[in-house]
Amino acid sequence: MQIVRRPLAPGETNHELLWLSVSSGGLALAATWLALRLPWPICLFHALTHRPCLTCGATRSAVAFFHAHFVTASQWNPLAFLFYCALSLFNVYALAVIVMHWPRLRILRLTASEKKFIRGSIIALFALNWVYLLTANPSL
Ligand SMILES: [Zn+2]
Repeated sequence: MQIVRRPLAPGETNHELLWLSVSSGGLALAATWLALRLPWPICLFHALTHRPCLTCGATRSAVAFFHAHFVTASQWNPLAFLFYCALSLFNVYALAVIVMHWPRLRILRLTASEKKFIRGSIIALFALNWVYLLTANPSL
């Protein structure tokens, strides 16, 4: 694996602009949804099984996160909380490189074993998060 800093190549997807736009648009949509007091999303898995799914609590975690109640946010859904932290860091990075015309960070040349490790780690994180939701968060 190699992490490099380089200018955006001609024709290359501007991931920073793309994902910052998606993230900001999603945040605006969610804020509008909540401001209009529209009904919260219902988890079909939870409704059918009375057990939390992998993402149960993510909405409540997001609301707590954006009110700076970070402990509460991490208790609702630890993996969602980590995602919101990573997304916030990415958005700050993306905004900085776009505004300042700085070189972009790119991860290059992942080996097959590194890809396998990353996939396994993601699956393990989802599994651990689900175990947490099933055992430690009875309010779901
Ligand atoms: Zn759910």
